[in-house]
Amino acid sequence: MTAFSHGHQFINGSYRTGTGGSFPRVNPATGAIAEEVDYASIRDLNDAVQAAASAFPAWSSLTPGERSEHLLNFAVALTARADELAAMETAQTGKTARLSSGFDIPGTIDNVNFFAGAARHLQGLAAGDYAGKSTSMVRREAIGVIGSIAPWNYPLQMAAWKVLPAIAAGNTIVLKPSELTPGTSLLFAQIASEAGLPDGVINVVVGSGQEVGEALVRHPLVKMSSFTGSTAVGRRVMAMAAESGKRVHLELGGKAPLIVFQDADVEAAAHGAVAGSTINAGQDCTAATRAYVHSSLFGAFTARVAALMETMVVGDPLLEDTDMGSLISQAHRTKVASMVDRAVAAGATVLTGGGAPDLAGAFYRPTLIVGAAQDSEIVQDEIFGPVLVVLPFETEDQAIALANDSAFGLAASAWTSNVHLAMRAGAEIEAGCVWINEHIPIVSEMPHGGFKSSGFGKDMSSYSFEEYTNVKHVLISHDTDIHKEWQNTVFKQR
Ligand code: NDP
Repeated sequence: MTAFSHGHQFINGSYRTGTGGSFPRVNPATGAIAEEVDYASIRDLNDAVQAAASAFPAWSSLTPGERSEHLLNFAVALTARADELAAMETAQTGKTARLSSGFDIPGTIDNVNFFAGAARHLQGLAAGDYAGKSTSMVRREAIGVIGSIAPWNYPLQMAAWKVLPAIAAGNTIVLKPSELTPGTSLLFAQIASEAGLPDGVINVVVGSGQEVGEALVRHPLVKMSSFTGSTAVGRRVMAMAAESGKRVHLELGGKAPLIVFQDADVEAAAHGAVAGSTINAGQDCTAATRAYVHSSLFGAFTARVAALMETMVVGDPLLEDTDMGSLISQAHRTKVASMVDRAVAAGATVLTGGGAPDLAGAFYRPTLIVGAAQDSEIVQDEIFGPVLVVLPFETEDQAIALANDSAFGLAASAWTSNVHLAMRAGAEIEAGCVWINEHIPIVSEMPHGGFKSSGFGKDMSSYSFEEYTNVKHVLISHDTDIHKEWQNTVFKQR
């Protein structure tokens, strides 16, 4: 029944059954129980952290070239298992097979390949003589054991974004995926091990956030906590890490605006808005959620978005023709539906969608809403479902102000054919990523991370090494005088 007949904990290079109880994991697209997932106990977690700590000295002492070779072998092994990974990702999340095999898995493999290269040019300042007769140099050093916590929306990609920069820089890791979606993170660690990564470099513990997640953040041998998930839990992680002054990296929620200026290509913007708001059934931290459209285009844009949404096929994620699969759970669908219902009660209008198809799984139709107030819940709070709210604007300044009127600042897009306007939007929108005439594309070479309540620090790209390395200044004196001149400020030469 399960692919993990030897347990759901991957510790020190092998599987074991967690000793902290178990729970039945449901396939969200069918509603059927898929497997019984065992939970890690605090003792299992301690073993995983200890394994990572024991692996650290040898792993961090490898040359960048040696670590790179391990990652290249890992990428080849992942590529050989791509179909298996894609099938598992769809089975545990309810996302379409097309998305898993065309986005999640190739994106993950590309990330491994990128960090295999990036591992070899971790950069620092060139050595320089800044203080008289001495030479200063910068060493970039691994931090130690990293404790990472990941969400359920893109389980494998989120695991990769946490693991890759950490281990490429010489750290070892204990990863806690969401208990709803542990499968591909476990398989990822197993494939790494089979490809030759030393035992203990990547460990995966499965358990609840409140018990195992909190214990991982607080563990004294864990030197840094990296977290991707909701803003509320991210703040709790930061508070716990503050108890011991531990380093944190937070990738949190989003509420991305999509601005359609007067000179935009409406057809392209409508396609971007539909794809950007319904990718992964809208369970995407960078999903387009609030469209601000110039009043002269409002009718044409909303009509086209509604028409495109109505053509989308919602249902069995395994079928090639299906455009959108299920949400992660019935409980999450209830949350999405309740937000839409409250928006309607507050005066908004649903132009299309706004309900669930008659299917057993946790499905919800692509939904388009107009008439909501800027300060309403549906415009300000993260929905994490396939729901787009459209509001009109009159002036450029107003559009930018509305886009920035949000607690979040992860991603945004602006649609225009005016290069001056495009440059101004890129500069003035408060978000970690601004797309012009696009919405969603991410690449391994570019940083991903938010401003404001969306967190701080970067995933992907060489910028992520800033999170996962300590920068050390080493100064070597070549002054042969016994009493150095600066020491006169403390005591005169004798
Ligand atoms: P949650 O914050 O609920 O959970 C994220 C992870 O944290 C899970 O592994 C969860 O464990 C764990 N967790 C829960 N409570 C605690 C706790 N008290 N201490 C430590 N760990 C805990 O988020 P979701 O899983 O619901 O994911 C959706 C959220 O993630 C959205 O807000 C989305 O915007 C954000 N996200 C952000 C991204 C970014 O790059 N900025 C990318 C992707 C998602 P468990 O569930 O097993 O209990």
